[in-house]
Amino acid sequence: MTESDAQLADRLASIDDRIAAAARQAGRSPEDITRIVVTKFHPASLVEELYGLGVRDVGENRVQEVLEKVVGVGDLSDLRWHFVGQLQTNKARAVRRVASVIHSLDRPKLADALDAEAEVPLDVLIQVNLTDDPGRGGVAPESLSALAEHAAGCLGLRVRGVMAVAPLGEEPAAAFERLAGHAHTVRRVFPDATWISAGMTGDFEAAIHAGATHLRIGTAITGPRPVRG
Ligand SMILES: *Cc1c(COP(=O)(O)O)cnc(C)c1O
Repeated sequence: MTESDAQLADRLASIDDRIAAAARQAGRSPEDITRIVVTKFHPASLVEELYGLGVRDVGENRVQEVLEKVVGVGDLSDLRWHFVGQLQTNKARAVRRVASVIHSLDRPKLADALDAEAEVPLDVLIQVNLTDDPGRGGVAPESLSALAEHAAGCLGLRVRGVMAVAPLGEEPAAAFERLAGHAHTVRRVFPDATWISAGMTGDFEAAIHAGATHLRIGTAITGPRPVRG
């Protein structure tokens, strides 16, 4: 192992320890929590290193980057790619082909674009905007029920739950409590939609306390993201 591999292994182990501790403190089982390593801006070689350390869930937020990286890592057949970024309808099919889960369903048109006849429906999460800024991504809470009902008509999609990013300048615990309420709204349409994707480097412990089932952790595991022009 090179020195940087060893550091990566240490950071991964230390985050997993913190996840397990937070889960136990919240009276939850660490096994019920999926830790997604967000690898955006990092090369495919980092994904391969993470895979070697046992990581099977990675996250990306840009279409071009995920499409390139999937090719770049070659045949890691049990690796799951989670798409967590805003998605244009004209890119939806391309992302559907490579992603196991899309966390950013936020409008009826995108549901239609992602929908496709398939043996196995695509797992999607409805992203909810917890801020007052419509530019932040995610459906406004008042439109959540309508979007869930629309998605119920898309037979190529399986809505598994909700996703959100905690707003800046607000206590994440309070935001994640609201998200738990939105998860409940979605379960009125999809009773088995139990997933809650929430929690990043700065707030994953608060997310675990609020019931998150899927954490999206980048820099705490990968180290700082390389700057791109
Ligand atoms: C980048 C990103 C993350 C990870 O952020 P970190 O603060 O590096 O852990 C999580 N979710 C989304 C949607 C992201 O774009």
